[in-house]
Amino acid sequence: MSPQTIFFIIIAILVISFVIDQLLDYLNAQHFNDPLPAELQDVFDEAEYQKSQRYKKERYKFGILTSATSLIATLLFFFFDGFALVDEIARSASNNEIVIALVFFGIIMIASDILSTPFSYYSTFVIEEKYGFNKTTRRTFFLDKLKGWLMGAIIGGILLGAIIWFYQSTGQHFWLYAWGIITVFTIFMNLFYARLIVPLFNKQTPLEEGSLRSQIEKYASKVGFTLDKIFVIDGSKRSTKANAYFSGFGSEKRVTLYDTLIKDLNEEEIVAVLAHEVGHYKRNHIIINLFAAIITTGFTLWLLSLFIGNPMLSKALNVSQPSFHIGLVAFGVLYSPISGITGLLMNYLSRKFEYQADNFAKHTYAAPPLISGLKKLSKNSLSNLTPHPLYVFAHYSHPTLLQRFRNLRK
Ligand SMILES: [Zn+2]
Repeated sequence: MSPQTIFFIIIAILVISFVIDQLLDYLNAQHFNDPLPAELQDVFDEAEYQKSQRYKKERYKFGILTSATSLIATLLFFFFDGFALVDEIARSASNNEIVIALVFFGIIMIASDILSTPFSYYSTFVIEEKYGFNKTTRRTFFLDKLKGWLMGAIIGGILLGAIIWFYQSTGQHFWLYAWGIITVFTIFMNLFYARLIVPLFNKQTPLEEGSLRSQIEKYASKVGFTLDKIFVIDGSKRSTKANAYFSGFGSEKRVTLYDTLIKDLNEEEIVAVLAHEVGHYKRNHIIINLFAAIITTGFTLWLLSLFIGNPMLSKALNVSQPSFHIGLVAFGVLYSPISGITGLLMNYLSRKFEYQADNFAKHTYAAPPLISGLKKLSKNSLSNLTPHPLYVFAHYSHPTLLQRFRNLRK
């Protein structure tokens, strides 16, 4: 296969995935104005429903603008040999392949982040603000960016540096070592993310003694679940949207409740949401997801090891001196149809898990408070209650509210 052919395959993949995404968004938008299903009539009143429709439309239009700009910028970068240029700049900074790769990705990450910042700024301070969701200050917004860059530089830098070092010292077998280090890192993050990373962005406080805590403890002991780590996170620092999640395992397992969730839901509803989270744990979803991520990573790295040594990848991007980082860019795009498929599978699995967690909450606690809790969450985030089935299939990690309602009522 000639470098030109590879180049055009890369361009075709970028364009086709854009078109597929746009088609799905378009299909979904055709159902924004559908009448609400009978079971969900009580989620919105008329004025709120209209507000939710305006919100969905505005998000949809903004989505087209964002992804079209990103596609155009990416294509221009490919057609005008942007990677060759950045490679040249990086090579003028050092002779060390690891340093060159780090400088190379550093420039690309920062450039793409700068390009996307006006969009995320508009999304937060114009759209989310208009609908009353935004609580972020400009200071927090830019501090978040800065912290994100710093964290990306440290974690990404260490991992990428290690992987290239393995590549230099072990050749084609590097993927096994890379898999090892990424696996250790993934498990470590799964265990300590809440302790090490979350505090950089949010305040977490143990849920205070009181009626809610004792209700939760009563439920936890009923299902034989040691739950001594229940934290409240100040999600209200950024947005009014509410959430709850489970993280870690073993003695590091903990439940995190957004302060916005505690404000919006009553005690029974909060315990029901928590019962759903406990369901994820009891059904081993945390471990299965972790395992699936590790297997996918191994597969990706193995595939990468088959292609990375081929100078054609670098030539396709018009870079004469083959290198790991240029090969990685080309591979990243060529691999994206496969990662698209694994993404679909993971979403499918995730929706199955949501049903299982809902059923667990239904059987060990009760369905009605979970239903009313989910309805409140949908109402307060102006959720789309009538998504297109294909859109759900491709993008939803949770079943729709209607599907969950019907399952809980069964
Ligand atoms: Zn869930």
